[in-house]
Amino acid sequence: MRYLSLLLLALLGFGCLPVQADGLRFALVKTSETQTRDAFTIVGGSWTETAIANHVAILIEHHAATLLFDTSLGRQVDQQFESEMPWYDKPLLRYGKVVPVRDQLDRDGIRIDRILLSHVHWDHASGLADYPEVPAWAPYEEIEFSQISTPPAVLPSQFKHPIKWVPYSFGEQPFEGFAQSHDLFGDGSLVLVPLDGHTPGSVGLFLTLEDGRRFFFTGDASWRLEGFTGPREKFWISRRMVDNDRERTRQQLEKVHALMQAEPQLTVVPAHDERVQRELGYYPHWVQ
Ligand SMILES: [Zn+2]
Repeated sequence: MRYLSLLLLALLGFGCLPVQADGLRFALVKTSETQTRDAFTIVGGSWTETAIANHVAILIEHHAATLLFDTSLGRQVDQQFESEMPWYDKPLLRYGKVVPVRDQLDRDGIRIDRILLSHVHWDHASGLADYPEVPAWAPYEEIEFSQISTPPAVLPSQFKHPIKWVPYSFGEQPFEGFAQSHDLFGDGSLVLVPLDGHTPGSVGLFLTLEDGRRFFFTGDASWRLEGFTGPREKFWISRRMVDNDRERTRQQLEKVHALMQAEPQLTVVPAHDERVQRELGYYPHWVQ
């Protein structure tokens, strides 16, 4: 009986250990930026202030695999943008000089094992074509959305080449206030959660470093941190251009808002927030 109790204690103790993966680290690979008006990015923003929208992919080194969360602007982005983006949307969405992820990583001999997409919008999926050999993970709904959606948010030419799609569904394990989640390696260090609304299969990614520091990559649920701290929606024209389901997107803003209040130590990283990302630094700088 005593052994059984010890065994139970050991099991319980194991369950209480902080979740983490040894040596896990990540880097923001910046490919480009878009200069815009503050007011275009968030409701109630300033018309006189400039805002910078970053374009990044998150490079993640886990001992089991090297991952990209999003692919950012790729080698063929000019061709994709010029041929498919409607002329009236181009001025708002035009980006500066591009250094594709694959150019930056090949230079250093970094091989990617798996791509995870926060969602399939053009500025997140452009680099997929540069990694045709790498499995691309996305929820079923999001892969379907890539096949039926149209410009300006989705550019069909980005999905014309053979893609090694790995569709997945979330399990019923609650995580951080989300009813469903998917623990990528079963060690709690990288956990995907649904953030549907901006697109039907948008996802967020929680990352926990060895020392317990935690990050939440939130894709485009909001372009800016202020969208969550407010919570504040996107500017109405931008919202109508890109948010697939307004009400659902608003609910996600509120959910992340509540999470940030409950966990002030959590670093929330919206996909385009230049201020948040500058603080973390860019590849070849690693956060570890
Ligand atoms: Zn988007």
